[in-house]
Amino acid sequence: MQIPGHIDPLTTGTVPLRGGNRIDLVGLTRDAIGGVLVEAGLDAKAAKLRAKQIWHWIYHRGVTDFEAMTDIAKTMRPWLTDRFIIGRPTVREAQVSGDGTRKWLLAAADGQEYEMVFIPDADRGTLCVSSQVGCTLNCRFCHTGTMRLVRNLGAGEIVGQVLLARDALGEWPKGTMAGFGPDPEDDDADDDAGHYTADGRMLTNIVMMGMGEPLYNFDEVKGALKIVMDGDGLALSKRRITLSTSGVVPMMARAGDEIGVNLAVSLHAVTKEIRDEIVPLNRKYGIEELLQACADYPGANNARRITFEYVMLKDKNDSDEDARELVRLIKQYKLPAKVNLIPFNPWPGAPYECSTPERVRAFSNLIFKAGISAPVRTPRGRDIMAACGQLKSAATKPTRAELDRIAEEKQAALG
Ligand code: SAH
Ligand code: SF4
Repeated sequence: MQIPGHIDPLTTGTVPLRGGNRIDLVGLTRDAIGGVLVEAGLDAKAAKLRAKQIWHWIYHRGVTDFEAMTDIAKTMRPWLTDRFIIGRPTVREAQVSGDGTRKWLLAAADGQEYEMVFIPDADRGTLCVSSQVGCTLNCRFCHTGTMRLVRNLGAGEIVGQVLLARDALGEWPKGTMAGFGPDPEDDDADDDAGHYTADGRMLTNIVMMGMGEPLYNFDEVKGALKIVMDGDGLALSKRRITLSTSGVVPMMARAGDEIGVNLAVSLHAVTKEIRDEIVPLNRKYGIEELLQACADYPGANNARRITFEYVMLKDKNDSDEDARELVRLIKQYKLPAKVNLIPFNPWPGAPYECSTPERVRAFSNLIFKAGISAPVRTPRGRDIMAACGQLKSAATKPTRAELDRIAEEKQAALG
């Protein structure tokens, strides 16, 4: 197992190309697409124009076939097909929960598996995206943390999840593209390009809350989210994207400055003793340091609050005293905060139980009474193991001894 440092402990490594020798354009910036087109032989001006067109087809229209790019000269399309692909993760398994939640088990080009979850609600649809295969951390209540095999996902693999969800939900815009009429320089481009109308969206929000710690894969997560937010493509507002971290303090300011999405922090405990146990990263970055980083988080204010996630574990972190201490800490650091109480979602071999509904309600009420919003998150997709913390791509039940060994190895690697 590789030794994680405190920042970006893993590299994405060399993943074999999905399209043989062809380059997958998904995940590249617009300039990088231009760059590979130049390398393939186009002059700079042509490459820039083509990159712009291709970008629009990939991220605005969801096209995976160069032949469908009607504003690109017919003769040029096979040239592109020979050299490039617009890839998607392979779907190994797709499941639908009784409550409408959908979970996909995906495989990368190297066979590594990861999961994504779509949670439909009356007023929104949230895609829960993975940033790593597994996780180098080992929060004791989290199934993903029991995975031994870990690698970072690349920007293309992260944004690929969003593209795949749009495919599966069948919600790419129909019609033709506004502002992308046939290329005047190409006599043989199709002449059917006109206008399209954007239709209603099911996928409205993204949460980086799938497998992995996104701030341990900063560059790729940033690259992917920049693509997702790009106005000429998927165009999701940063206000509709939330990044959840277990508390990688040194990367939090950069996340705010350079990505600018909403922040969620997996707090889960208010004393050193308990947080050290359940979120072992706390031994490296303690509660005070973490809350100070939250107070300094760029862009957080009363209109854009930081979400504190708090998993409810029976007789572990769920007393009235814990609730009062949580309120005290939020006030001490003057945090624009809301608290999200997550009933613990069980998984095979998990060492904890969920707090009783009465306890969860009492805990929530105490926080509400102090003027801080503390809704209880309704578990979604539990029947297909799609709820928070249940994701794990190889569903084996490890023995307690194995769980302890994995925890020890990961803790030793944290230093
Ligand atoms: N690694 C990131 C994001 C992924 S987890 C993080 O830890 O913040 C998304 C949320 O689900 C986190 O708050 C995580 O602590 C929580 N979670 C993990 N396991 C859980 C479980 N078994 N039941 C309920 N919530 C869980
Ligand atoms: Fe990793 Fe988040 Fe699970 Fe902790 S809760 S092990 S940081 S995925």
